[in-house]
Amino acid sequence: MARCPVCGLEVRLGDDYMPGELIEHDCGAVLEVVKGPSGLGVRLFEGSMEDWGE
Ligand SMILES: [Zn+2]
Repeated sequence: MARCPVCGLEVRLGDDYMPGELIEHDCGAVLEVVKGPSGLGVRLFEGSMEDWGE
């Protein structure tokens, strides 16, 4: 289970999430989906949403 690094609550990742996708968590943090050794996880996205897609 992935946990938000900001608020510590669960982040629900559906089967269709891909590494690199951005998720806005309930707390307002923007998280990036990353592939880990035991499946998908998340990390805090430190870029700007406005720059996404370049
Ligand atoms: Zn959160």
